[in-house]
Amino acid sequence: MNLEEQTEKYVIKLISFKFKPAVVIGAEYNGKRVFSYSKPCDSNMRNSLRNKLRELGDLYIQKNGKGNPIGNCAEVNVSQKLMIGNSTIPLDKIIFSTPIRPRTKQPVPICDNCKHTFDK
Ligand SMILES: [Zn+2]
Repeated sequence: MNLEEQTEKYVIKLISFKFKPAVVIGAEYNGKRVFSYSKPCDSNMRNSLRNKLRELGDLYIQKNGKGNPIGNCAEVNVSQKLMIGNSTIPLDKIIFSTPIRPRTKQPVPICDNCKHTFDK
């Protein structure tokens, strides 16, 4: 099963629990795959990620009053999960699945904050 298929399966599982977060995503690095969703991220994080997010502004606050609050994206949450046990993963080398909105099952474009954070 590829990352996209496995992410779709995760979406179906969440929906079966009647849980529909705004955005769901999968991530992969060096054979390890994890899945997560958008929510305010854990403030305890790897320095590489913290420093990148700090370039945008304060955690949980919108940059210039627009867009997703910093650190709330599915990409950030799934990266934190991926870095558990491996703090040296380069942020630009993380492979993401297509982000999916469970309510509509439609893909969600990557936001400007995440383009900056993960060099996408
Ligand atoms: Zn984002």
